[in-house]
Amino acid sequence: MKLAILSRSPRAYSTQRLRTAALDRGHQVKVLDTLRFGIDLSTEEPDLRFRGKPLSTYDAVLPRIGASVTYFGTAVVRQFEQMDVYTPNTANGIMNSRDKLRATQILSRHSIGMPATVFVRNRAEVSSAIDMVGGAPVVIKLLEGTQGIGVILAPTKKVAEAIIETLHGTNQQVLIQKFVKESKGKDVRALVVGDRVVAAMRRTAQGDEFRSNVHRGGTVEKVDLDPEYADVAVRAAHIMGLRVAGVDMLEGADGPLVMEVNSSPGLEGIEAATKLDVAGAIVDFIADQAGFPDIDVRQR
Ligand code: ADP
Repeated sequence: MKLAILSRSPRAYSTQRLRTAALDRGHQVKVLDTLRFGIDLSTEEPDLRFRGKPLSTYDAVLPRIGASVTYFGTAVVRQFEQMDVYTPNTANGIMNSRDKLRATQILSRHSIGMPATVFVRNRAEVSSAIDMVGGAPVVIKLLEGTQGIGVILAPTKKVAEAIIETLHGTNQQVLIQKFVKESKGKDVRALVVGDRVVAAMRRTAQGDEFRSNVHRGGTVEKVDLDPEYADVAVRAAHIMGLRVAGVDMLEGADGPLVMEVNSSPGLEGIEAATKLDVAGAIVDFIADQAGFPDIDVRQR
């Protein structure tokens, strides 16, 4: 298989691991800087240019699109799709997962458990929105935050209203979400590849911090995922249009509550915590889908 990895960070752990996993399996692989593409719409056939020249032929593409280049990056992925190059994550899937509101709207139509969430814009609607999700303490989330930045736990309704008003005043959109107390600063990250969870870890927040992001000092441990959690993670990824995804779930009193589906999950934390070859599983899945079953598997 000839695989293109779209990434702006060729030296990042995840990119390196994916590249090495592909080479180890006898595939050809190139890491291509997402921003160096040209989308050629001048001819009848969809085409792509790379660094000013026509792009050579690829069998599959693995997009690792950072949040800051979502618009252009997904346009490149869409062009690959139009050229019938296999991608595990579609442009729509990546777009859907980027926007917390859009993701929540899509998942809420498919009986996936999620923390109760309300979205309002007008000041007059804020008070009843907070009540709707169970009152204070309440979680406030910026629509496009990552790594726990822009996720706030407001202890009282007054504080929540002040924060939301301030954010609205600077034209920032926020989600108002029920605080899932019973998850106690923990969450579960399931790495979905195709139809299964290939690795899972639990993240635990430090001290009195409620956010379990590793960037916020959270610690990670391997977890044997309950089948209910694995099933929800795979369904959530598929509903979004993703075959490679990191699905973050809170452990609610009545089972999994999906918070987020990430289309470019980092591999370093989860491979370190689980000692599993997640990059290899991703490459094997793509090769299989693109019509290049693993040589080792065929010989066995
Ligand atoms: P980000 O995308 O920035 O990581 P998340 O929505 O995943 O933001 O939230 C960051 C962390 O905050 C989560 O990993 C979780 O530990 C905690 N958290 C988020 N939402 C809730 C909630 N509704 N109830 C309890 N804890 C939450």
